[in-house]
Amino acid sequence: MTSTTTTPGSATTAVALSDVTKVYGRGANAVLALDGVSLDVAPGEFVCLVGASGCGKSTLLNLVAGLDRPNGGQIALAGDASPGLMFQEPALFPWLTVDGNVEVPLKLRGLPRAERRARVAELLRTVHLADFGRTRPHELSGGMRQRVALARTLALDTPVLLMDEPFGALDAMTRDILHDELERIWSERKLSVLFVTHNVREAARLADRVILLSSRPGRIIYSTTVDIPRPRRIDSPEVAAIAAEVTERLRTEVGRHAE
Ligand code: ADP
Ligand code: MG
Repeated sequence: MTSTTTTPGSATTAVALSDVTKVYGRGANAVLALDGVSLDVAPGEFVCLVGASGCGKSTLLNLVAGLDRPNGGQIALAGDASPGLMFQEPALFPWLTVDGNVEVPLKLRGLPRAERRARVAELLRTVHLADFGRTRPHELSGGMRQRVALARTLALDTPVLLMDEPFGALDAMTRDILHDELERIWSERKLSVLFVTHNVREAARLADRVILLSSRPGRIIYSTTVDIPRPRRIDSPEVAAIAAEVTERLRTEVGRHAE
């Protein structure tokens, strides 16, 4: 990690945030975006962070990613590798083929050509795009582009995946399929995932634990363990019940903020 506030995590936590505070700007214009956030993600755990727009979800993820620094508190990551990152926009290189895009992190890691080719093929099979290696991003649907972005992120071979509304721009059916894919890959690779979304149903569908952030400043106000057996369906009554519970807390919070 490049951030000086980031230190190797312990064996029992993949990601550890302790009393993290983030302020944007200075003086009269200062915005307190996060206020004393403490949160641990266990190895292999899938944690979803939900909250209203502007509550500091992306801020928190960017701090964990080392893209920005907190004003207070500590962030620790297991191992010394940077986490994998995925955003709402796939951010692929338009001039490269799908193969070329997935190969970028492997090149950066200095893997020899033959090994890179084998790994690209394996990663594209993992995201069910085995036949699309030679196509370019503009020829693909939004869901396929996010699959390529996922394959490229997996090419980093990092145990921690940070995802900021990665399926937010996709239609419900495509999102549903990608939930299944992500759940399978997460469980096969024993990844630790910190997944940000404002979609409470998506959180209940995916997470081992759902964490709710309050509106500005962002503070953790509620956390619930999701014990529903996997694989899950987003339209199941169990998922709906958890989603309703979290939505109720969120509604109370937004109401409190509006007063
Ligand atoms: P979310 O992802 O939950 O929608 P963000 O983390 O993007 O929220 O933003 C949290 C708060 O911090 C918002 O009020 C936003 O306007 C503010 N903010 C985010 N980034 C910056 C920045 N670079 N400079 C100033 N304010 C920012
Ligand atoms: Mg955001």
